[in-house]
Amino acid sequence: MSAPTTTISSLPYELLVAIAVAGQENRVTESDWGIGSTTSKSEWTLSQVSHRFRDVIVGAPALWTLIETDFISEGSVEILKLYFQRSRASKLSVILLEPSEAKDGLLRERVTEIILPQVHRIQRLKIVWDLDQEMLGPFRDVAVPHLEHLEIVYRGDEVAVRAPVAMFWSGASRLTFLKIVRSTLQLSPQPSWMASITHLELLGDYDPDIYLAAVTAQCPSLTRLHLDITYVPPDANRFHIPTLKFLYISIQDNERADYLSHIVALFDAPALAELILNGSHGDQVAFLLCLKSLPQSSFPVLTSISFICTGSCSCETEPGFPYHPLSPPPVIFPALSHLILINQCHAYSLIKDIFGPASHPWPPLKTITLGAKDNSNGSFEGLGAALEDAVKSKRQRGEPVPEVQLFRVVSSLEDWDENSPVDVERSW
Ligand SMILES: [Zn+2]
Repeated sequence: MSAPTTTISSLPYELLVAIAVAGQENRVTESDWGIGSTTSKSEWTLSQVSHRFRDVIVGAPALWTLIETDFISEGSVEILKLYFQRSRASKLSVILLEPSEAKDGLLRERVTEIILPQVHRIQRLKIVWDLDQEMLGPFRDVAVPHLEHLEIVYRGDEVAVRAPVAMFWSGASRLTFLKIVRSTLQLSPQPSWMASITHLELLGDYDPDIYLAAVTAQCPSLTRLHLDITYVPPDANRFHIPTLKFLYISIQDNERADYLSHIVALFDAPALAELILNGSHGDQVAFLLCLKSLPQSSFPVLTSISFICTGSCSCETEPGFPYHPLSPPPVIFPALSHLILINQCHAYSLIKDIFGPASHPWPPLKTITLGAKDNSNGSFEGLGAALEDAVKSKRQRGEPVPEVQLFRVVSSLEDWDENSPVDVERSW
């Protein structure tokens, strides 16, 4: 007797809908959420399995809430209208992609006629543009009562033509996540529209100074901030962000040893708990950790710092980048207990100073995590040996030993963050 076989057509309705919903959950959490071809989407596939399934899938509004369009490709307007209709009153996640070419005025017209009547339902919105701002214009004076997540991404290569982006000036009272890539935002005359933002990412190659200070000043609830900093003028504006807990700064290459310290000194963030500095060099790290004071900033609760060197630099081989030894514990970070060094140049020297046999005690230090590439910055094996020696000598002297982990860096470090996978090879 053969076992009963389960085919997709024998599944109950609820399970079928659950499968489709599960497929969509991944799409929303991916960084490029939703971007893909319409035909690969589970609601399409499942709605074509049989008549019975078609009715189930088409009748489940939650399955038609992830919407993506470039307005131009064949059938996209009809598909868009179908999603709006089938999602009924559900909240929507929408991606608008600017097509590579469109007739003058067409995008403005389509956004106004098709998207604006549904804009009150949009919960997540991503707009990717590269030619001009025709697609963004209609959103300027609109209110978005349910919008929580907004991304505006410029992916073209013109810099000069970009005017600041103005959106949703009539109110976005639930907006908590705002990411702007290679565009600047024109601040609303009603500053309160940014009041609910807790997560802000300002990435790109714009002139940061006055703009960043003005934007962050309008976000009184900000807890997470991601910034690209390309240049710090001598009289730079400072950022006073009393609520900030997490700060990620990506730094343009700079040869000055005090550059990292200049950047950190821009922030007055007394609640900051985690700091990631992407683009640092070992001499800059040592300089920062040696500082005896930061007159206008204090970091009393900062427990975790990551220093990431993104490329392969020549700091260790060329003269002109002298490394000055540092002596722990760092005065300006009294609570620092988790130190992360990833592909960091001068890592060997940093480890020796911070943790080696002759180092001063650093009681709050609980964990050291090191990521190294095979052939750069002290080499993986060299660092492993240095850590081994350091741990041994600490134990022999009866000193507290932090938890130490060493992993091999395989990924690109441009986008490294605290959620990036780490495959620890050695630990002590
Ligand atoms: Zn370097």
